Amino acid sequence: MESLMRNSLLFLSKNRMANRAAKKYGLRFGARRFVAGEQIADAIAAVRELNDAGIVATLDHLGEFILTEEEALESTQFCIRTLQEIEKSGVRSNLSLKMTQLGLDLSRELCMRNMRAILDTAAACGNFVRIDMEDYAHNEASLDIFSELREEYGDTVGLVIQAYLYKSADDIDNLHRFRPNLRLVKGAYKESPDVAYPNKEDVDRNFIHIIEQHLRNGDYAAIATHDDKIIQHVKQFIIEHNIPRSQFEFQMLYGIRTQAQRDLANEGYTMRIYVPFGNDWYGYFMRRLAERPANVGFVLKSLFKS
Ligand SMILES: Cc1cc2nc3c(=O)[nH]c(=O)nc-3n(C[C@H](O)[C@H](O)[C@H](O)COP(=O)(O)OP(=O)(O)OC[C@H]3O[C@@H](n4cnc5c(N)ncnc54)[C@H](O)[C@@H]3O)c2cc1C
Repeated sequence: MESLMRNSLLFLSKNRMANRAAKKYGLRFGARRFVAGEQIADAIAAVRELNDAGIVATLDHLGEFILTEEEALESTQFCIRTLQEIEKSGVRSNLSLKMTQLGLDLSRELCMRNMRAILDTAAACGNFVRIDMEDYAHNEASLDIFSELREEYGDTVGLVIQAYLYKSADDIDNLHRFRPNLRLVKGAYKESPDVAYPNKEDVDRNFIHIIEQHLRNGDYAAIATHDDKIIQHVKQFIIEHNIPRSQFEFQMLYGIRTQAQRDLANEGYTMRIYVPFGNDWYGYFMRRLAERPANVGFVLKSLFKS
């Protein structure tokens, strides 16, 4: 039942008509809990509040279904403005973005051009940009783009690796030559068992495996999870292997396990929250519901309240 619900929600997350309607009608159905607002100013205010609680952030200007060069350019301009607003306001945040948002499905060259414009701004501001990892169809292209940009921009750019893919441990070995800053996650998309572990236990096991692998390599890890078992394991592992706290950070999503976020920050760990904003919130919101169908109850309640 739960996997049926999850698959339906992931299916709906890709529905373009629903996405258009969502954009038109604004943040609804409880999405405000997971999305910081529609404007940059809303996002900066949310980050400031987190910073006041000793928590840092990564801002994500939501954007899905980019179909034209103009839309990719608009999205690029938004990313640049976001970096400028971070600098101007003095909040502690970097930026996360997706390659398809910058036009990867239209052409790799367009995407690279847009990404270089964003990284030039980030480098000038002394900030950092992380490439989110999307579905498997974009995996190799994202790795390849990261490798090229890492040569050019060094530590200004980072990537994400998903534990549910069979290939991820090999990818980490291949990337080690760059000493990369990687965000490690379980993985959020619906993938075929040809490329990804279908069972949660195997995903969790591989998650621990790649976290340990990357930390043992001496490279910087952003461990992005709400899973207490994984967090406890990491806390123990770093003590046993003398890994300094400066070599990793925990990350969680805006609006999820907010008390745990504060607790980890109070314990002295670097805690970074992924803060999405913008009017293109529909696909992101549906993926969060798919991760935890219990949240659907929360959404239904908010539907009847509004
Ligand atoms: C900062 C960040 C960035 C991410 N970037 C990417 C990316 O680039 N690409 C990608 O594919 N995926 C990304 N993800 C999503 C990730 O792959 C998982 O889908 C997501 O984090 C859920 O997995 P989990 O590790 O929290 O563990 P789960 O096993 O899903 O959850 C563990 C426990 O956490 C709590 N929890 C989990 N989700 C929720 C929720 N929605 N509401 C309330 N409680 C919850 C529950 O108590 C649950 O039992 C990112 C996640 C984070 C935190």
